[in-house]
Formats: sequence, structure tokens, C-alpha cells
Amino acid sequence: MSHSEKAAIFNKNEAKVNWHDKALWFVREKRDTAAHKVKGWEYLRELASVIKANVLSNLDNYLIEFETNAVKNGIKVHWASNAEEHNKIVHSILSENNATKIVKSKSMLTEECHLNPYLESKGIEVIDTDLGERIVQLAKETPSHIVLPAIHKTKEEVDELFQKHLGTKPSNGNPEYLTNEARKHLRNKFLNADVAITGVNFAIAETGGIVVCTNEGNADMGAHLAKVHIACMGIEKIIPKEEHLGIFLRLLARSATGQPITTYSSHFNKPTLGNEMHIVIVDNGRTEQLSREDFRSSLHCIRCGACMNTCPIYRRSGGHSYDATIPGPIGSILSPGKDLTKHSSLPFASTLCGSCTNVCPVKINIHEQLYKWRQLIVKDVKQPLIKKTVLKIMGKVLARPKLYAIFGKSARWMLTYAPRFIVYSKLNAWGKSRELPKIENGNFDQWYKNRNKNG
Ligand code: SF4
Repeated sequence: MSHSEKAAIFNKNEAKVNWHDKALWFVREKRDTAAHKVKGWEYLRELASVIKANVLSNLDNYLIEFETNAVKNGIKVHWASNAEEHNKIVHSILSENNATKIVKSKSMLTEECHLNPYLESKGIEVIDTDLGERIVQLAKETPSHIVLPAIHKTKEEVDELFQKHLGTKPSNGNPEYLTNEARKHLRNKFLNADVAITGVNFAIAETGGIVVCTNEGNADMGAHLAKVHIACMGIEKIIPKEEHLGIFLRLLARSATGQPITTYSSHFNKPTLGNEMHIVIVDNGRTEQLSREDFRSSLHCIRCGACMNTCPIYRRSGGHSYDATIPGPIGSILSPGKDLTKHSSLPFASTLCGSCTNVCPVKINIHEQLYKWRQLIVKDVKQPLIKKTVLKIMGKVLARPKLYAIFGKSARWMLTYAPRFIVYSKLNAWGKSRELPKIENGNFDQWYKNRNKNG
């Protein structure tokens, strides 16, 4: 199904759409307030962008530097060229340690590699410990947002889910009660886990250490209690020096949730005494994206989710309508690079208003890249006949002013006098859920000429 077809399903529940829209806009406004309080915010964005550009231009060197330093610290480093290799490496570490119970903090990379179903098929229990991720895991769904994975669920829905899976009492969606019950349930899982898997927010080349940011402390709890810690990271997570962290940490939390700093920004530099620490560095299509001149800066992304919170399409279509691990504007740039035909509708799921570009902390020109994908897609992917025909006709009309004037006049006549079933036919996507505005007499050209004539 295309993005618009999936969005139509989400749009059936109008109350939920309005609530989803408002909830995300609230986060966007918090981000604005937090960003405006930082002097030199724009300078920080610029710095982050040039640091990331430098990393991408020297990625091979930084990755080797990172590996050398991590190994010196006693960390075992593994390389995976794709999702399959990543999953096999994680599984082999688990097998070596006879591990059957895993706790995992938020990691979009492991979602991208479909690690959970892979490990579950091998008889391993994987418990997502981020509350939002645990909610979607219990619901057998995927995250609909990279920072707020269960933003599409109401508290009443979570209440029902917990009653069914955790045996809680009906609480009418009481957030405090539900959070406490989740905490009790997860505490048990933490205490009994053999291995903890975490993501990586930043991997520092000069130290070989990693930084993991969470608001719940679940990555720390897992990594500190289990004997083995496996951290999974994409190759683009590298930053050159520790001193660069201050720039990215300031930008990340403010852009993501409007907080001045993430509650836990935990540094992991080496395994604790008697324990093991592994880092799996994954490519999975990233070098290919790096080779695409027009799209390489999409790898600057620090996964803050700000482009989703501000996007009018994302807010009103929901994350699942993108049918991709990373939804929203940045996902619509990354996904076509992986499977152009499957994700060909995503770059069109945008008004190209540029709001995503304005909020992006690492200054990715998101809306321009979406526009670029559109140009490539119409050449390379078969388009619906109706769309091709309409665009061909419009191209001819727009190139000829006289024809355009005749077309405009006929359209105004049609919209005023034609029967409703013709005006609101299947071809009129705009009119599916809206009334068209009243058609005025004359067009802009006439209005403008009259205005000038009358002084
Ligand atoms: S593209 Fe920019 S705004 Fe969107 S998630 Fe990535 S860093 Fe955040």
C-alpha cells in the first residue's frame, strides 16, 4: 500500500488524528522554547553540520581510529555489512555466553535489522525496556516514532494492553499506575537478563567510547546488571572528539523533547571487571547512501525526531503510514535508498514547506532532498497512468499562457455550475474530506489589472 492509502486508514479515527497532531505539535513548541533559550543556537547547528560533514568525508579513518581505541579499552569490535550479518554476530555472542534472556534499550538500528524476530526465532526472549517500546512490543507493533515509539497509542489503549499482558487492574488509563506496573514488570526482567543490548547515540573516535542517551535510565540498568553488554551502531554514529559531544548533546535533547539535556547521557568506555562489552558496527546500505551526492547529508541525522514533530503530513498520517523503520521526513529520504519501488510514495508525502529543514539540528536540507527523490522516482518508477496523463496535460497548459487562461475560465465555470457528483468525483482528492472554497468571479490576473487601474 502507498503512504496515502495507509494514511487513509489512520485518518478514519478523526479524534485520534487530532490528538496525535496536537501531541506532536506540543513537543515541537517545547523544542522552540528550549532552542530560543540557547544563545548561538544557529551556530551550534552549523558546527554540528560541519562536524558531521567532516566525519562522512573521513569515515574510514575515524572508524579505524574508533576501533583501535575501543579494542585498547578491552571492548570487542565486530563489523557487519548488512542486517543479516549484524543479527548473526549478535546471536553468536549470545550463544557463546549461553544467553537466552535479553533486555534491550531503544535502538532504531536493531529495528532496522529486525533483530527481535530473528532472536525470537532462535528461542531467545528479547524484552524492550524503553516504556514506549515495551508498549508497542506487547501490542506486536513497530514504533511509530523514533523518540516516542508509542505516540499513536492512547493511555486507555495502554491500560487494556497491560491488563491483557501484565495482569494489571483497570485504571481508566491512569499514567502513574501504569508506569509503576511497567516498572515492576521490567525490574524482574532486568534482574534476570543474561545480556543487555543497547543502541549508540555517539561513538567517539579519539576515545573508543560510546554515549547512550535515555530518559528512563533503562540502558544503564540493563548494561550494569548483565554480564555482557552488546552495543549496536550504524557507521555514521562517529564523532571525532570528546569535546564535540557538548555540541551534539545540547542539540539532541532540545530538538527531541525540548529538554535541556537527556536525563541520562551515559558514557561506556570499557567493560566492567569480569564482564564483556561488544560493539557491532553496521553498514546496511549506509555507504551506498554516502555515495549518492544529493543524499549523503541525510547521514548527518542524530535521530532527534524534530522533523517528524513539525511535519504536517506526519502529524496527521501517523508513523505507521510510512511502512518503514524510520518514518517522517528523514525516513522518506532514507527508505527510497533501500528499496526505491517499495518506498516510492514516501517523498511525495510532504508539502515541501521546509519546516523539517528549519528545525533539523544538523541542518539537513530535508525538503530539497525529498524534491530530488521525486525527480528520480518519476523517471525510474512506473507511475499510475492517471497521474502521468494529468501531469502531461498540466505541463502543456502551464507552458502556454493563453491555454492557461482558457483552462482557468473553464475550471471556474465547472466548479460553479457542474453537478456536485462531478466536482467531487474520485479525481478530486482534495474534496474527499473538505469543501472547496467558494469560486470568485474572475481570476488573479484580472484582479491585479483592475487594482492597478484603480490606483
Ligand atoms: S533529520 Fe534532523 S530533525 Fe530529523 S530526526 Fe534527523 S536530526 Fe532530527
